[in-house]
Amino acid sequence: MDSLTAYKAHLAEIAKLHSAQALLGWDQHTHMPKKGVTARAQVAGKLSKMAFELFVSDKMGEYLEELEKKDGLSLEEKASVRRVGRDYRRHQAIPPALIEEFTIARSEAQSAWVKAREISDFSVFRPHLEKIIDYVRRFADYFGYEEEPYDALLEEYEPGMTSERLREIIAPLRNELVPFLKRLIDDGTKPSADVWKGTFDVETQRSLAKRALEIIGYDFSAGALDDVAHPFTTTIGPGDVRVTNRYLEDAPLSGLFAALHEGGHALYNQGMGEELYYLLLADGASHGIHESQSRMIENQIGRSRPFWHFFQPILAEYFPQFTNVDPDVLYRSANIVEPSFIRVEADEVTYNFHIMLRFELESGLIEGSIKVSDLPDLWNEAMERYLGITPPDDAHGVLQDVHWSMGSFGYFPSYMLGNLYAAQIFARLRSDLPELDEKIASGDFEPLLSWLRENVHRLGGIYDPNDLIERITGEGLNPSYFVSYVTDKYSEIYRL
Ligand code: ZN
Repeated sequence: MDSLTAYKAHLAEIAKLHSAQALLGWDQHTHMPKKGVTARAQVAGKLSKMAFELFVSDKMGEYLEELEKKDGLSLEEKASVRRVGRDYRRHQAIPPALIEEFTIARSEAQSAWVKAREISDFSVFRPHLEKIIDYVRRFADYFGYEEEPYDALLEEYEPGMTSERLREIIAPLRNELVPFLKRLIDDGTKPSADVWKGTFDVETQRSLAKRALEIIGYDFSAGALDDVAHPFTTTIGPGDVRVTNRYLEDAPLSGLFAALHEGGHALYNQGMGEELYYLLLADGASHGIHESQSRMIENQIGRSRPFWHFFQPILAEYFPQFTNVDPDVLYRSANIVEPSFIRVEADEVTYNFHIMLRFELESGLIEGSIKVSDLPDLWNEAMERYLGITPPDDAHGVLQDVHWSMGSFGYFPSYMLGNLYAAQIFARLRSDLPELDEKIASGDFEPLLSWLRENVHRLGGIYDPNDLIERITGEGLNPSYFVSYVTDKYSEIYRL
């Protein structure tokens, strides 16, 4: 067998294990009975160990070394060798004993975080977080970096991104949007949310979410929709990309937008060919690019005026109280800006501030300029600076996210990058499809989906994020698209 065939067969073995892991993970969050948790953890641990061993095996190293020198590989094969090679070297660099210690520290930190959040007491979590940061710093040293240790962590989620570049991206966003938020609040006319008051049957909300997914082009013969506490999307394998969602009786927009968000993630994976899956290129170009696909469907489409003109009569089929409601009222009420303590509930204008704050703090923690004991105060001070509000307690402040307890440092910026990529990609999409608004308003989502399939989805992880954004838009990541999108949209809604 030549090295390319052997390499592909090796990756296919790993992909099959990933498929089993994904299915177990999906089941754990959707249908598994509570008492199954201990036995399931054993099985999941076993599969993950098997996949990891195959990934960092000497065989893999040999295949990569041969293929890196080989000519005549296809675009997809070359991309696979480049990306798998990069991950292989990162993972190889960490001593296995350290990974095992870290896994234990992480699971202890997560239990401590759950408890700390319950009683809103940061001191319960503090010693665990100190330990986690110590491990993460060691990982950064093993991974290697040029300028700052935090760069080594960013690389995992957003290949090619650096702290320096992030600071360049954040500066104009902050300078434009902090004063813009103040203007909206001080001088703007806030839309009313009264139309959404009341109780909304959960079963009916579930049917509406399913309908919304069908409308955007999600293929139910290659997926499923199930209930969970915290929505996510998972790729079990080619032809099987599942969405999960949750519904709140008193907040139907929450479940609808979560469905559109997860649907955006799912369209990305449903649009990738089977070959990419078996070349380990089906995670997309990066976390940020993946998030751009979900945010675009949720915000640029779902929170747009044409969408609500189309969607109002559909909404009324499920909830007849909307029969005579002006679509414009629905559009405005779906776009209320309100500084809030919790990131996941943030609107389009304030969302990135939550990320800027986390980036400041976590890069300082990794670099050593910030002490864990100072975190709660620094958090509250940054909330005041960006959003003009102070959390009532640590549960609504520094303890709200699970990420740090899992050792996921460098992940948060992906959420902000997703918003920025979405705005930039959408600007190009609009100029390519000048009739987009009329199409959406008439319920024709086909041109939108075809454009995304052609320019983003089918490419999966073939390109790194910066190459992809340049290929699509002709320039590197440029935050001014997001600034224009947000200021234009909300100036009109708030009648500034
Ligand atoms: Zn997402």
